[in-house]
Amino acid sequence: MGYTAEDEHLIKEKWNDLLLSCTKVCKNDEDWNFIKRAFFLAKEAHEGVRRRSGEPYLLHPIAVAQIVIDEIGLGVKSVVASLLHDVVEDTEYTVEDMERIFGPKIASMVDGLTKMSGVFNADISEQAEYFRKVLLTLSDDVRVILIKIADRLHNMRTLGSMPLNKQIKITGETIYLFAPLAYRLGLYSIKSELEDLCMKYRFPQQYAEISQKLQESEAIRQEFIDKFNAPIIAALNQDNINYEISGRVKSIYSIWSKMQRKQIPFEEIYDLFAIRIVFKPLPFPSEKTQCWQIYSTITDIYTPKPDRLRDWISMPKANGYEALHSTVMGPDGVWVEVQIRTQRMEDIAERGFAAHWKYKQATISQDEDEFDKWLKQIRSALNSPTENAVDFLDNFKLSLYMSEIVAFTPKGESRKMPFGATALDFAYDIHSKIGNSAISAKINHKLEPITTQINSGDQIEIITADNARPKPEWLEIVTTAKAKQAIKSFLKRERQNNIERGMQMLEERMNSLNIKLSGRVLRKIIPIYDSNSKEELYSKIGAGIVSLDNLDKVLKTNSKNKILKFWTLFIPQKEEEEQEDGGNEIAPEKETETPSAPQFQIAECCKPIPGEKVVGYRDPATGNVIVHKATCDELNRLAAQFGKNIVKEEVKWSQHKAMSYLVTVELRGIDRMGILLDLAKIVSDDFNINIREINLHSHDGIFEGGISLYVKDAESLHAVMDKIRKIKGIESVKRTIS
Ligand code: MN
Repeated sequence: MGYTAEDEHLIKEKWNDLLLSCTKVCKNDEDWNFIKRAFFLAKEAHEGVRRRSGEPYLLHPIAVAQIVIDEIGLGVKSVVASLLHDVVEDTEYTVEDMERIFGPKIASMVDGLTKMSGVFNADISEQAEYFRKVLLTLSDDVRVILIKIADRLHNMRTLGSMPLNKQIKITGETIYLFAPLAYRLGLYSIKSELEDLCMKYRFPQQYAEISQKLQESEAIRQEFIDKFNAPIIAALNQDNINYEISGRVKSIYSIWSKMQRKQIPFEEIYDLFAIRIVFKPLPFPSEKTQCWQIYSTITDIYTPKPDRLRDWISMPKANGYEALHSTVMGPDGVWVEVQIRTQRMEDIAERGFAAHWKYKQATISQDEDEFDKWLKQIRSALNSPTENAVDFLDNFKLSLYMSEIVAFTPKGESRKMPFGATALDFAYDIHSKIGNSAISAKINHKLEPITTQINSGDQIEIITADNARPKPEWLEIVTTAKAKQAIKSFLKRERQNNIERGMQMLEERMNSLNIKLSGRVLRKIIPIYDSNSKEELYSKIGAGIVSLDNLDKVLKTNSKNKILKFWTLFIPQKEEEEQEDGGNEIAPEKETETPSAPQFQIAECCKPIPGEKVVGYRDPATGNVIVHKATCDELNRLAAQFGKNIVKEEVKWSQHKAMSYLVTVELRGIDRMGILLDLAKIVSDDFNINIREINLHSHDGIFEGGISLYVKDAESLHAVMDKIRKIKGIESVKRTIS
């Protein structure tokens, strides 16, 4: 079953088109032969196979090669790899065959493409895991990704012949992965087309409505554009500039997204189009200067909106985009966006990364560095074994789509950050060491919390402290993948260190008590210290949350004591009071926990600490006793509604003070030099209390903030609060539930 005459005719037509485009890239016979050999091999390999639409399969690789050359601007090797891209996957040929016939470079490109489609064809329901795999196959050779995008674009253009379930799968992948990827690689028109095609298949009705409305308003719009352009054309002609001016209508998808985002009808979208001026610059002065000259000409005619000036020339976008954007007040009181760029910038905007090669020698551009940086970032993210697939993907998407801001170091070095980044992200962007020890930031010379979101143009100095440590909450503060990963790996490392330190501390303490640290001993003390595993216990000891000062007493506790889970709470039980064994050693025991032993849980709403008067509430669902402060409102509510569940007996804290409790104290006062130091001194020196976090910020001479501390009981908390109250400038000190 070979090719019919009609097939041959179709193929010949498309092949000739491709050959015509190849004149742009083929330099010698060798190049031509290379492409022809690939074509004939593909033709033979796909013989007899048809696409769902009925046309010969071969038309697909030809079309992909055509996109690769015309719309992305790649060269001979990419054309060859495009022609062969489905050969290994769909036919008898192997990668080894490719290497033998076309050499190692082509073989590795085809291999990369095969692996990528292997992932896409796999029937995996977990989308996230699936995309992670796709990304893992992102080859070192960017051309493989670009060819894959071309492949996807052609499949999207011919999606109509696919059954609905396939359409849903393919559009899902396209909108989630390929469109952002195309954007990140600077392929603006491909990105827009992919989005429009997705919308066309997924939301056909809305797509049709918007495109109809665009058509209906076309004449009026053109009339307006002509009116707007007329004085600009006259002025530019007078300046002898070689330019083209056009009105660019927004893509249907982006109009629709805006309607969704802003919840407005089509009629209320005022920036439906932009005016684009593309010019061929003179050799002198610089391109940038010439762009600004045109800007000046235009703003002599129309008044610019000052906050809508975007200079992507001095500071190109990370995907290489360069242009000058300005919004001016046009006729009839309508704001109009004007984009000014040179032909070179236009090529880059249209064809993205590939166009850079063309201009590489001609201009000193940092864009490729930018791209390399991005790819490096992706790779380092890929190499992180700790992240799960969903996190990874979120981070990845974040780094694909986020619009950018530019912030500066104290020395004036500029750094690109995604929109929404905080000072902490900035700290991590400089170096993970800076991030890990950051405590606050001076933003434009003003002290601000590390959590502050930064704006474009901010100059940021990160204040660090040697003893500062990342906290789990930081993961909520940062937005960049780099910072998230650094924090995660620090916390993981720290936990490991704490475990090791805690284990050592416990062993030493046991040694000094002359008791062997056996599994039985561990099983006894783990619940006593409110832990669920020995790792948790070690880590709490290592972090200083659990103190071993009373270990001897703890070990002496009657093993038959029913209150194990939360050892500091108990309900005195008159009849059953058991005699202590009297022995110092832990007696060999059977089962320690009787089924009736109450499990205590500290109420989240009021978080009582030892020394405070507490009341127990038996949770009917679990049988656990939830311990509230006697004054807790929630307890009152529960008592009113479910009075019978209130534990009749008095719940008491036991004598031992082995645990520390996290409390937050809120402070307010008059800002003065050295107040932080005074605070730290009081809290740490005087009471030997563990500070977890101090977070103070000041404005207009007032400071506010909180200290999180580990305290042993209410008594020591109140003592420290009294001391703090006496510090000069402090106005109010109160405990909060955080
Ligand atoms: Mn394909």
